[in-house]
Amino acid sequence: MTRIVTRTYRLYPDKTMKIVLDQLCDYRRCCWNQALELWNDLYDDRRILPFYAYRFVPNKNGIKEEKINLKTMPNWRLVRNMMVEQKQDWQYQYSAHLLQLAVQDLGKAWQAFFDKSQARQGNPGFKSKKLPKQGFKSDQAKLKDGLLYLEKSREYKGEWHPIKFKGRILSDKFGVLSITRKNDKYYLSIPFKVEDAKPWPKSGKYTAVDVNVGHFNYTEGKQLVLPKSLTKSYKKIAFYQRMLAKKRTVNGLIKGTQSNRYAKARAKLQREYEKCANIQKDLMHKFTIKLVKDYDKIVIEELSVKDMLMSHAASKGVHRSMFGTFRQLLAYKCEWYGKELIVANKLYPSTQRCANCGFVKKGDEKITLQGNQKHGTKHNEYVCYKCRYKNDRDQNAVKNLYALIEHPELNKAA
Ligand SMILES: [Zn+2]
Repeated sequence: MTRIVTRTYRLYPDKTMKIVLDQLCDYRRCCWNQALELWNDLYDDRRILPFYAYRFVPNKNGIKEEKINLKTMPNWRLVRNMMVEQKQDWQYQYSAHLLQLAVQDLGKAWQAFFDKSQARQGNPGFKSKKLPKQGFKSDQAKLKDGLLYLEKSREYKGEWHPIKFKGRILSDKFGVLSITRKNDKYYLSIPFKVEDAKPWPKSGKYTAVDVNVGHFNYTEGKQLVLPKSLTKSYKKIAFYQRMLAKKRTVNGLIKGTQSNRYAKARAKLQREYEKCANIQKDLMHKFTIKLVKDYDKIVIEELSVKDMLMSHAASKGVHRSMFGTFRQLLAYKCEWYGKELIVANKLYPSTQRCANCGFVKKGDEKITLQGNQKHGTKHNEYVCYKCRYKNDRDQNAVKNLYALIEHPELNKAA
């Protein structure tokens, strides 16, 4: 079995290739926008002329009339063919694959938009030159000895060099490469095709993880997930967000978004987001690999449950994204290394249940972020009213999650 592992590398283009990369980004955006315009036109045509449309294709004998059946939805092949017919001279200095990949990706974006199972997917939009992230894709480029060889069109007259990148490649087999420019830095993403990892030896140990705002608790202790670097990063993000909000309105009118100063501030915010994501990822990689190495079965809770508890955290959204990263990384690592991940049901009362006798607190007995007023308990303690069991709140939750390993029947919806 092979699987796809994507790695991102920093690219170090020379002056010549910087210009080339920028041109390629521009060309990709241009293709995308043109394709989207055509695509939208085709949808409009479908509404007005529900059956057929005609288009005129020049050929050797003059002009050929071609009937398009509009009952077939617009698709990337149709749009690509139309674009190839309309190609202008200057476009030939770029590889034809650039155009094709842009249209293919647009097709995927439309598919995702129509896919009901993927919530929150907007319809594909036009791409602006002002976006801090630009990029293009290549399915023809080669990698050799730490150098990226982009394919060059025969019509291209300028200089063309290989581009250095730092880092080890995982495999000689890979899919479509993505080259992106973010804040004047260039990156290369490579989806490697690698053979499945061998399962880790079994340890015979199990664990459960309770996710909290600043720390993750598990059976053998605590993993702190809010180091100073991250707190600093959150503060900076909040600062830039406020700054952008102020710049957005000029004299009470919403029009600041077009200014250069706005674009600059947005670039700074973007850079900080990136830094923050890197710190989080690094932290989560280390923690999840430790869990997968040490334990055969790992229980975690449905993380949307924790969203409610985030109300007092700084940079909520940004911090929450770490929970998602945690689950994602843990899920795929468990699969690779032959370990079992158990996800507790959303309704499983891991916070309210007594790990000793199974009693579940309800109504005004419930434990909250402030503890419980009725019984005068503190926010970080769990006191059972039935059996007088006492424990740290988070450790109690860990025990309840752990109980699901021996009592999977508890994990049915309550
Ligand atoms: Zn109890």
